[in-house]
Amino acid sequence: TSYVFDFSHGDKDQKDLLGGKGANLAEMTRLGLPVPPGFTITTEACRHYLAQGSEPQDLRLQVTMALRRLEDQVGRRLGDSVDPLLVSVRSGAKFSMPGMMETVLNVGLNDYSVLGLIEASGDERFVWDSYRRLIQMFGKTVLGIEGEAFAAALDAAKQVKGARSDVDLDAADLKDLVGDFKEIVLKHTGRDFPQDPREQLDLATRSVFDSWNTDRARLYRRRERIAHDLGTAVNVCTMVFGNLGETSGTGVCFTRDPATGRPGVYGDYMTNAQGEDVVSGIRNTLSLDDFAALDPASYGELRQIMRRLETHYRDLCDIEFTVERGKLWMLQTRVGKRTAGAAFRIASALVDERLITLDEALERVTGTQLANLMFPQFDPGTARTALTRGMAASPGAAVGRVVFDSPTAVEWAARGEQVVLLRRETNPEDLEGMLASAGILTSRGGKTSHAAVVARGMGKTAVCGADELEVDSVAKYAQAGGVRVEEGDLLSIDGTTGEVFVGQVPVVPSPVVRYLEEGLDAAVEGADEGTADLVRAVDRILGHADAVRRLGVRANADTADDAARARRMGAQGIGLCRTEHMFLGDRRVLIERVILAATPAERASALEALLPMQRADFTDLLETMDGLPVTIRLLDPPLHEFLPDRADLMVEVARAEERGEPDERAIRMLAAVNRLHESNPMLGLRGVRLGLTVPGLFSLQVRAIAEAVAARIAAGGHPHAEIMIPLVGSVMELHLIRDETDGVVAQVGADAGLDLTIPVGTMIELPRAALTAYRIAEAAEFFSFGTNDLTQTTWGFSRDDVEAAFFAAYLEKGVFTVSPFESLDVDGVGRLVRIAAQEGRAARPDLKLGVCGEHGGDPESIHFFHRTGLDYVSCSPFRVPVARLEAARATL
Ligand code: PEP
Ligand code: MG
Repeated sequence: TSYVFDFSHGDKDQKDLLGGKGANLAEMTRLGLPVPPGFTITTEACRHYLAQGSEPQDLRLQVTMALRRLEDQVGRRLGDSVDPLLVSVRSGAKFSMPGMMETVLNVGLNDYSVLGLIEASGDERFVWDSYRRLIQMFGKTVLGIEGEAFAAALDAAKQVKGARSDVDLDAADLKDLVGDFKEIVLKHTGRDFPQDPREQLDLATRSVFDSWNTDRARLYRRRERIAHDLGTAVNVCTMVFGNLGETSGTGVCFTRDPATGRPGVYGDYMTNAQGEDVVSGIRNTLSLDDFAALDPASYGELRQIMRRLETHYRDLCDIEFTVERGKLWMLQTRVGKRTAGAAFRIASALVDERLITLDEALERVTGTQLANLMFPQFDPGTARTALTRGMAASPGAAVGRVVFDSPTAVEWAARGEQVVLLRRETNPEDLEGMLASAGILTSRGGKTSHAAVVARGMGKTAVCGADELEVDSVAKYAQAGGVRVEEGDLLSIDGTTGEVFVGQVPVVPSPVVRYLEEGLDAAVEGADEGTADLVRAVDRILGHADAVRRLGVRANADTADDAARARRMGAQGIGLCRTEHMFLGDRRVLIERVILAATPAERASALEALLPMQRADFTDLLETMDGLPVTIRLLDPPLHEFLPDRADLMVEVARAEERGEPDERAIRMLAAVNRLHESNPMLGLRGVRLGLTVPGLFSLQVRAIAEAVAARIAAGGHPHAEIMIPLVGSVMELHLIRDETDGVVAQVGADAGLDLTIPVGTMIELPRAALTAYRIAEAAEFFSFGTNDLTQTTWGFSRDDVEAAFFAAYLEKGVFTVSPFESLDVDGVGRLVRIAAQEGRAARPDLKLGVCGEHGGDPESIHFFHRTGLDYVSCSPFRVPVARLEAARATL
């Protein structure tokens, strides 16, 4: 097996084997771009190491050979005492995990090669600085020494010298520091810093392998749903130096703005610095324009390469580069991460530029991104007090109480507080705090800093590099322009503009929601160019999605208002109207009367009182959705939900008795509550079981529906009501209900002089229903999968209790990566859906199939429903655009 590939062998499609970074280094090498030569140790070697606890047998020899080829190519030897070759050792997994794994630079420096490098570079200070960086990085990542030990020694050296920054230390200071660092290594590990360059290389490689399994890497993968068994590749690359004086430097750039998607290059540059300096946000950076002024030749070449890469990858690329004494080197490129808004704008722009097709544009955006864009933003019309401003690093509007460290963020969030995490800069240890926060604010670092990159990846609001802000995370306060912010104070941060406000700024709906609600013209009018561009991009891509998708998209809506919104959002009907929602509030007493009725006559009159209201509800709904299907589900929940709380009632009854004036009404109510009390109401008297035990209840609802349909027809409308029976487990239940309801419909039709037919179907939300679908289809014209109850009954998890009780532990332990109530459990619940769909259709070929559980709006579940051949999904009105998009993406 080959475990090692030179950069000159391989291409961008080999990410599985070479990791993202390695594959792209190979691709750039293939394109003839200036990439420092090197080689990649494969993910396969890493997997072997992680599984067996040792490197594969052949690896050592293969690295030796690759190293020999590299040395021959550059004409230098690793760690030689004359003009030595130095290498960087970097991780590179298939999916980028920014800042999660290890990197060691300057491998090959030792007490001898230091002298060779001084001779070759003529820059003694640079060489001692490189050596101390190696010992520091190696000590920390490979030997596991606390970074604090080195940082303290560095601070001490600066103190002695009265130096403010690292740059003020001269060669002699740094040489002394190397001595101090070596002592730290000896003291902490009991052995000397390894002088053998090859041993340095092998140990660094191994520590990159090991870093795949650190806690923070695992946490990141769980969140990003990256498999734990992929392993990382290791890239061994000839060192080029950005810290060789003022004609050297290092930078990060994007071929378009990753925050907004605006065309035009964007980036950060730092002179006399090495790679990590830019990303870590330790010093503030220069813009690309400054870089152009500083070094026009390198900038010109960089611009050309950026254009080349963007045309080649046909997408936004992000690039890391270094200039060594006026010579440009490409250290990395990849298709860049971007915000949700940028994703839409870039995809649409690339279609205009004829680099991609509309289908490809669909692949470049996700429903989750669209959902992000539907978040509210700060109200531009209200007065607010600016605290300061930073870079717009990750969009959105976040309001929360300020905390200055990660553990506090986690703790406060756990007790339900919204928090804004305020740090000078973040590092990978802050990951959990960032996850727990509503927003992230830093005082150092640009759009490419750790905080910015990670926040964008999480879809979290972030403002970075607000450099007026003085942050004291020990004393827990920050200040800017004389305004002081203490822990617990409210801050509002705008990740779209970079503004930071004291207090709580009110938020307004997003322009994308405005577009969805009011149309393109209204949303574009008066909007700034970026907003208008974004809204047009969303319109274009959603329009294409509608043309491409096979799945219909309906909404779950119970009122005419909700239905109207859903229709504006693009819903093609109502997939679920939960009629119990029509009896909340004042109307609850009407149901109460039905339940408490002592005689059939009393019950009949109580039901009769419901009729006009239900009829009016349905008429409104059918009018709003005229011409589109409206699935109305008959009453589902257990009846006790309509009655007062049992404990409260008992107290009421007892008090009245104490006073010597017994409350007859309360006593009757309590008796009813006791009669209806169930230990597991979710598994009790609800749905079709109610219909079969409370005489007249379902017929009343069916009559209201049929009369509403007749009224709409009389008014010249086109009503398409469908009646849906909940919680069916046996075809007999359905036959019995249909006997009753078909008669009512026929009767209403006859009375109105119409030939009324209203399709009747059932929810499939019990395993038994799914498993006997071929029977149930005899009596159902459509199935709608109630995946909420189906998940509850398949797993035996109470949907009301479970999330709090043990889901956190299950997610933590990896029993599932996402709650099965959120994203469909394809293997289990999905299997039942598949069986029911197939067998139902076999029994009745024109059976219509839909889904109306929460999963109808979940991207991954929608892809499953598409594959399974359902006709439509139904979800909450706000998820409708997401479902339209994902239904189309599922076809690609
Ligand atoms: C379901 O069970 O998936 C469903 C849509 O019905 P409800 O959520 O009302 O029980
Ligand atoms: Mg249900």
